[in-house]
Amino acid sequence: MEKYVLALDQGTTSSRAIFFDRSGGIHGTAQLEFKQYYPKDGWVEHDPVEILRSQKLAITAAMEAGEITADRIAAIGITNQRETTVVWDRNTGKPVYNAIVWQCRRTADICEKLIASGLSDYVTEHTGLLIDAYFSATKIKWILDNVEGAREKAERGDLLFGTIDTWLIWWLTGGRVHATDYSNASRTMLFDIDRLEWDDKILNTLGIPKCMMPEARPSSGDFGTVAPGITGLESLVGIPISGVAGDQQAALFGQACFSKGQAKNTYGTGCFLMMNTGETSMRSRNGLVSTVAWGLGGKVEYALEGSVFNAGSVIKWLRDGLGLIKSAPEVNILAESVENAGGVILVPAFTGLGAPYWDMYARGTMVGITRATTAAHIARAVLDSIAYQVKDLITAMEDDVGFKLSELRVDGGASVSNILMQIQSDMLGVAINRPAVVETTALGAAYLAGLHTGFWKDLDDIEKNRKVERIFTPQINEDQRGRRYAEWQRAVGRSRNWSN
Ligand code: ADP
Repeated sequence: MEKYVLALDQGTTSSRAIFFDRSGGIHGTAQLEFKQYYPKDGWVEHDPVEILRSQKLAITAAMEAGEITADRIAAIGITNQRETTVVWDRNTGKPVYNAIVWQCRRTADICEKLIASGLSDYVTEHTGLLIDAYFSATKIKWILDNVEGAREKAERGDLLFGTIDTWLIWWLTGGRVHATDYSNASRTMLFDIDRLEWDDKILNTLGIPKCMMPEARPSSGDFGTVAPGITGLESLVGIPISGVAGDQQAALFGQACFSKGQAKNTYGTGCFLMMNTGETSMRSRNGLVSTVAWGLGGKVEYALEGSVFNAGSVIKWLRDGLGLIKSAPEVNILAESVENAGGVILVPAFTGLGAPYWDMYARGTMVGITRATTAAHIARAVLDSIAYQVKDLITAMEDDVGFKLSELRVDGGASVSNILMQIQSDMLGVAINRPAVVETTALGAAYLAGLHTGFWKDLDDIEKNRKVERIFTPQINEDQRGRRYAEWQRAVGRSRNWSN
């Protein structure tokens, strides 16, 4: 009887459940969306109970879709939207406030004060991150400061904190396990990524009692078993939860980037680039952040991470803002109808520029327009702009690590675009490697879980599973590449420091 590993992929807009077999093939999936709450401008919340409900329904629906009974589930792996913060009462299991989502900017002023107090260097040195509202730390402080009675309860030991992985584990184990994995812990801005423990100085500065914090454990390891009494999941009792990682780290693992220097890029609304830096944690000179990739087999590996704010969203702007295409895939047809962008360069700094520029006053610009410019040239410039931004990040990463990338593994919605992948390969001068299974996030969580229980033997066993769908190789020479990149950098210069 074939067995499967169940991956729970708890994302920002939906909860998914996917079954993987030994060869990494997919059997039975289900996805349920849940509500986004925007109580004020720039505020984003989720209802943790709704997340739980949608995740449970996704599990039973995926079992039905794949006709999989509980006795065929070897292990459960969890991957999740990172940084999103839940605080709940350990006695009742009830959240004291909605989950504050990673996108939420409500704590920007707390961060400004922390920066002004001179904490930046300490935070980077110990956590690998930059002080920002994005990470969990200031979101916990906000809840303790703003929910009546929360701080007293927390100090009494009655409240627990968790990112979404921790919240799911706690519920699935009937409140027996309050734990997270190193990769999720490293996104809280409270975790010392070298010592692998919560940082007392940052906890004290923010007034967060240490007794709220979950135990941080290796990503492939023991997170308890499904407890009796969970409505809808009665048949799953006793199944081990044995793999946990944040979504980007799980994708890096699912792409089998197991060696130092291997990197993956996810092309979604934005882009998430991550490079395995091996067993040492780097500190970037170029505005990238350093995180734990995973803890596995008694070792901890690290990664450098950078993100592009606007990537697939630029294609959507072409559709909804300019009306030049009717659907996202049409961008490819339009862009393929011309040989190049005809000298047009678009810098999509819609919300400022991230690494390596970090210019929140930059705004979008388009240069090089002539009477000959057509919609097709603009479509091509849109794809170019995604690839150029990724090149900016990779150039920064290469400078930090001191060696050149050998290939880039890709996934995400826009990675299906052949023309975009070709442009990316041309600009980087390296091969782009697109796998057959693009569900790399869920796959990574399944692998971490199955490695611990012996479902997969070792990393070689997993690497064999990775099937390449297509490789794109550079079609232009170094000279052409250098000239084009210099033009992009000139265009970026025009977009900077615009909205003051
Ligand atoms: P997210 O997880 O951020 O919501 P996805 O990984 O689902 O994003 O990717 C969605 C993005 O991919 C959209 O922004 C869309 O513009 C882009 N996209 C979808 N299909 C294509 C396609 N065929 N060619 C190019 N881009 C595409």
